[in-house]
Amino acid sequence: MTFRCATCGDDHDGLPDLGMRAPDPYLEVPEDERPARTTFTPDRCTVRDDDGEHFFVRGVILIPLCGHDEPFGIGVWVSQSQENFERYAVNAKMDPTFGWLVNHLPHYDETTFLLKTRVHFRTGGKRPTIELEPTDHPLAVEQRSGITIERAWEVVHRYMPS
Ligand SMILES: [Zn+2]
Repeated sequence: MTFRCATCGDDHDGLPDLGMRAPDPYLEVPEDERPARTTFTPDRCTVRDDDGEHFFVRGVILIPLCGHDEPFGIGVWVSQSQENFERYAVNAKMDPTFGWLVNHLPHYDETTFLLKTRVHFRTGGKRPTIELEPTDHPLAVEQRSGITIERAWEVVHRYMPS
């Protein structure tokens, strides 16, 4: 499906998903300290600081797209307890867990860092889906109400190199 973009004026085909490549607390660790203080895979990450060790997993926030079957996906990282982190490592068949969102999504004026979420694990190698606490934060509102394709492309352009 080709779409004439209101943000840049070009024609676009498929809408890409967005992804945050690491938890913000990981990116804040100086690169030369990462080998000693962190572990990192595309799905799991740990960070050790003065408070102890912190555990993060990657999931996806799905936002319904008005008039489309497929949702818009934003890959993000959330915290997990050590127990749930270790359980996820061996078996994704788990009840939903609590997690703090640990990425700043710069397309919202209000910070998204440490929003409360529920993490829904999926089997079959799929990353968990992240459900925002139903507050009036714009990200939570957009997940509940859906967004237009125009809005999704506007967001995508915020992350594209220009
Ligand atoms: Zn565009």
